[in-house]
Amino acid sequence: MITVWKLLLGLTGGNTILAIWLVAFLVAGFAVGIVRGFFRARKIQPKGFRWRTFRNEAIFAAVGVVGSGILLAGLTYLLARLPHAAPNHNPASWWVVVLEYAFYFFAFDTWFYWFHRWMHTPRVYPWIHKLHHWSTAPNLLTTFSVNPLESFVNGGFLPIFLTFVSVHDRSMAFIGPTSILMGLYVHSGYEFLPRWWNRSWATKWFITTTFHDQHHKYFNWNFGGYTTIWDRICGTMRSRYESDFENPKARLKKPAVEEDAVVPAE
Ligand SMILES: [Zn+2]
Ligand SMILES: [Zn+2]
Repeated sequence: MITVWKLLLGLTGGNTILAIWLVAFLVAGFAVGIVRGFFRARKIQPKGFRWRTFRNEAIFAAVGVVGSGILLAGLTYLLARLPHAAPNHNPASWWVVVLEYAFYFFAFDTWFYWFHRWMHTPRVYPWIHKLHHWSTAPNLLTTFSVNPLESFVNGGFLPIFLTFVSVHDRSMAFIGPTSILMGLYVHSGYEFLPRWWNRSWATKWFITTTFHDQHHKYFNWNFGGYTTIWDRICGTMRSRYESDFENPKARLKKPAVEEDAVVPAE
């Protein structure tokens, strides 16, 4: 270390500040290199990003978040006036939190899958879900680029769930952020999970970024929001999803017209 520092000092003519800048520059360059290589290798659709799509989605997201907020606040207000389960402010043990969270997770996944399929039916699609499919290569903003009516359909689950189930505050702390974090994760455009994910019996039931990315790319497959369970049961999981997941090089190929790529309904 001392030798390297002496070398740097020698290079900069004994100027300590300049040597520190040089170290910082080298470290930053190294970090950027790692990060760029790290992310580049994990990009699902390397040529998928379009600035124009991103700009449009920024506008849709801004309008959508405001509209969704108004609709969901109205729904929550209406449901609060109905007789319902009171929020449970008592302390809960960890296994109660796990049970309540798991119940929410699988119940919402079921709700999401079936409403998602309904939103893909030709009569409903243009009015509710088409906006979210603006991107065929999703990015983080795609998460929020949603028609307020769609937020109403998906977001409506939580107030209804809380009307029937008295969830502990401690469980709510985990349930609350889940949908936003899952949304950001599946639209990130990068696959961070290990290759064995779909080979392991413990993990293959949970969706990956590639899974939802392919929903945007191939449109008629992979409807699940949290799990692959309903898609596996109903035969709507894309047949090449698992092989594509394991073979990132396949992602680098040109997006050829595939027999299972269905053009979105107008
Ligand atoms: Zn969809
Ligand atoms: Zn999506």
